[in-house]
Amino acid sequence: MPPPPTFDVRLTRARLISPSVRELAFERIDGTPFEFQAGQWISLVLPLPEGEGRRSYSIASPPDGRAGFDLAVTKVDGGPGSTYLHDLELGSVLRAIGPAGFFTRPRDAAHPSLFVGTGTGVTPLRSMMLDALHAGDQSPLWLLFGARHEHDQLYREELEELARNHPNVRVEYTLSRAKDEWKGRTGYVQTHVHHLWNELAAKGNGPPHVYICGLERMVGAVRDLLRKQMGIDRKQVHSERYD
Ligand SMILES: Cc1cc2nc3c(=O)[nH]c(=O)nc-3n(C[C@H](O)[C@H](O)[C@H](O)COP(=O)(O)OP(=O)(O)OC[C@H]3O[C@@H](n4cnc5c(N)ncnc54)[C@H](O)[C@@H]3O)c2cc1C
Repeated sequence: MPPPPTFDVRLTRARLISPSVRELAFERIDGTPFEFQAGQWISLVLPLPEGEGRRSYSIASPPDGRAGFDLAVTKVDGGPGSTYLHDLELGSVLRAIGPAGFFTRPRDAAHPSLFVGTGTGVTPLRSMMLDALHAGDQSPLWLLFGARHEHDQLYREELEELARNHPNVRVEYTLSRAKDEWKGRTGYVQTHVHHLWNELAAKGNGPPHVYICGLERMVGAVRDLLRKQMGIDRKQVHSERYD
């Protein structure tokens, strides 16, 4: 396979979408439309203290023919790459390589989907959901998003609006360190996957596919639950790990 393309991008917009997550919008300097499939990631070449280093980030925006794309970066304590990107000034130019990755949901998939993400692991799932809706996909698109605290629920308003406007979209949140006043689901995503999968399967639209994204510990636990305890076929379980 040929190596993915390399091109320069400029930071055009940035905002904090939670206390520890910065959304960054980049534009290709050459103005060429950035083509990718929902769920793919891109590498950025960063001038880090130990020398040039690459870090990969899932594309949070859907493919829409623009020259730009959005990323969402969690600030990791003592992490040189994420700290650099949190401090990056508007107008800065970086080298980008991509797109890459096979964690994708084809536009014509038409199968019920349960998306399971924690933290910035929600970003490729957001891209897949928006892409499916733009393509007029009527199949059930259910998202289970796990975070620690209420303020860590990324894109909550936007996702809830999607659910209000599209009967096939459902969005569920679970908090692992909820305050007493939180009325929603609590605990890790693993606690809720079995029940949601059964509910989705019972709708009779065909066997659901599960798309899981986040850190290794969660992805491994959800995969084990689906594959070993529930006996779900591996072709129906798709995952991406960040570490
Ligand atoms: C395919 C792929 C897609 C990725 N997409 C994203 C993304 O969309 N957003 C994002 O923030 N990161 C993403 N990452 C992680 C990212 O590439 C870096 O690893 C991360 O920014 C940490 O880099 P660092 O230099 O700050 O810290 P490092 O010193 O390189 O890493 C320190 C530790 O941070 C932990 N870590 C890595 N990513 C995260 C995270 N997101 N949240 C909490 N802890 C983390 C890991 O345990 C790692 O060992 C992705 C990684 C891969 C492989």
